[in-house]
Parts: sequence; structure tokens; C-alpha cells
Amino acid sequence: MTDSRTSEAPAAYDVAIVGMGAAGLAAAAVLGRSGRSVAVVGTRDRGNAGATEVHNLPYAEGIAPEDLYGRMERELDRYGTSVFPETVEKLSAPADGAGPVTVETGSRVLVASRLLLANGVENVPPPWVPQDTWGTTVFDCPFCHAYEHRGEDFAVVGPRQMTVQVALLCVAHARSLVVVVADAEAVGSSAAERVRELGGEVLHGEIVAAERHPSGQLTLVTSGGRDLAVGAVLVSGATRMRRQFVDQLDVRVNRFGIPELDADGKSSNPLVWIAGTAAAPNYVLVEAMGSGIRSAMALHKDLAFEGLH
Ligand SMILES: Cc1cc2nc3c(=O)[nH]c(=O)nc-3n(C[C@H](O)[C@H](O)[C@H](O)COP(=O)(O)OP(=O)(O)OC[C@H]3O[C@@H](n4cnc5c(N)ncnc54)[C@H](O)[C@@H]3O)c2cc1C
Repeated sequence: MTDSRTSEAPAAYDVAIVGMGAAGLAAAAVLGRSGRSVAVVGTRDRGNAGATEVHNLPYAEGIAPEDLYGRMERELDRYGTSVFPETVEKLSAPADGAGPVTVETGSRVLVASRLLLANGVENVPPPWVPQDTWGTTVFDCPFCHAYEHRGEDFAVVGPRQMTVQVALLCVAHARSLVVVVADAEAVGSSAAERVRELGGEVLHGEIVAAERHPSGQLTLVTSGGRDLAVGAVLVSGATRMRRQFVDQLDVRVNRFGIPELDADGKSSNPLVWIAGTAAAPNYVLVEAMGSGIRSAMALHKDLAFEGLH
């Protein structure tokens, strides 16, 4: 790994990767192993910031995020990958495919033949979430963190019908289950009916305040004036797509703002691939890694086969 503050960076790269999370780092390793020159540019504010353990990661179940990402970064040392831990401000990649990609940070402009955008999604916990509970007591993925709370009292909170469906995924672990959903119609849905059949409650409303107790338990206050004492809170609908770079790169997106990509992550801009949650916001970590790896292999082929008929 080359940190630009201590050594000279090459003027141009085969591939610039924006994002130092699971997708970007996994892609960098594959491209390094393919003999490609790679610049990884990104801050270390990963999607699971706040969590103390990573789950559903085969062979590394429960690993601390800093250990996982630290190891993935160190593994790049052997390939001579250039790593720039900086905020990216602007990207350009001519939509006609003619010309280099540029990546601008506050202190440099990097030039590359191709771009892999792996800048993740924005996680926006509601304002009532108490400090230092996001990623532990309060979380957004039933597959990643519900198991660690088995036997506790659960609340599942969110705006739409999907919230009630997500609650059904926690039933096996919850000692008690209360769903608080903002959409009034969701309270009468078939999913809500099933929650009730299974012994849970479904309330129409929102959370207006929360208090954390020394025991780690939370009290949530609903807009209807109920106090809910819980040990685990699943928040649905806290994810937003990051639009800044797809707009700058003129990448086609669907009506939800999700980029239109082929199976390898290639976008409508012939110089730009997108991987990880920037490509599919619901990806868990291993899926983000997988999509980064798949895009990296496609990028290596695209460069190797360029100009062939
Ligand atoms: C609280 C929480 C806990 C989770 N726990 C788990 C779990 O246990 N197991 C699991 O499988 N999944 C978990 N996930 C999901 C997991 O975090 C994502 O699947 C994973 O982070 C996606 O990886 P990524 O590389 O696509 O994006 P990210 O990890 O978000 O990486 C994006 C990268 O882009 C960088 N970046 C963004 N914008 C810029 C910019 N302008 N300039 C420079 N750099 C930039 C970021 O700093 C980061 O390095 C959790 C998610 C949350 C919210």
C-alpha cells in the first residue's frame, strides 16, 4: 500500500476505485492480483460504522469491523495498491468513453482509464436514536443483528408496510414484539394480522423520543403516548442512495435512484462500474464484497480486450 503522504504516486492508473468499504477493498485486491495499477480513494466511514461486530460473514463471524477492514487494507500492500484516505469531491468520466476518468479530492487529481464507484449508501438513523446505540441496540438489518438480541423485547419501527414485514423476520428471537409504523394502512395489512396472530402488537404512529438506561435497555415514547421498554430496536427505511457522483457521471438511474447496471456492475457510462450498496442498497457485506470482485474481474477483462473485434 502506498500512502501519498509518504511516497510518490504514479500519474495515471488502470482503475480508480472510490470507496474503501467491503466492495472497494475487495475489488482492489482482485485488480491488484490481476496486475492492474489501482488507486483506492476513500474515507473510512463505512456503512456499518457504529457496529461492534460483523455478522453473516462466513469464516469471520463476529469479527470487529476495524479488524476486518484493517486486514483488507493491509492485504493490498502486496500488490502495490495506492491508497488515498481522502474525501472525493468531484468525478468525471466522459459519457462517450473517450478520455480518462478523473477523481478530485481536496489535495489531488487522479487520472485513470476506468472508474469503480463503491461509495456505499447513506445511513440516516432517526433523530431520536440515542447516541452510541446505532449498530448495537438499534440496527437496521434483521439478518445481521437480531440473533444477538434473542430473548429480548423488540420494537420494529419505520414508515411503511415493509416495516411490518421486516418485523416478521424477528419473531423467532423476540420475547415480545411491538411494531410502530407511520403508514396507517399498514396497521390493517395481512402482515400486521400475522404479527398479531404470533402474539405481537402493531401500532400506528412514530417514535418521538427515546431514553437509554444504564442497563442498556431503551424506553421508546410513541406519538400515541405509549412508553415501550425494549432491548432491541430495528429501524427500517433508514437508507438513502448517494446521488452526487452518479449525477456528475451522468449514469442512468431508475425511479428509485438506483443505477441501471449490467450483471457485472457496468453502468450506462462506458468508463464507470458500480459495486456494493451504491449498486444495490440492500446488500449485506459479503454481497458487497462479491459485487466488488465481480466488477473487478469485468474491469480487468474490459481493459485487456479493449479494441478487439
Ligand atoms: C449499523 C449497520 C450494521 C451492519 N452490520 C452488518 C453486518 O453485521 N453484516 C453484514 O453483512 N452487513 C452489515 N451491514 C451492511 C454493511 O454495512 C454493508 O453491506 C456494507 O458496508 C456495504 O459495503 P460497501 O463497500 O458497498 O459500502 P461502505 O461500507 O459504506 O463503503 C463505502 C465507502 O465509500 C466511502 N465514501 C463515501 N463517500 C465518499 C466520498 N465522497 N469521498 C471518499 N470516500 C467516500 C466511505 O467512507 C466508505 O469507505 C450493516 C449496516 C449497518 C448500517
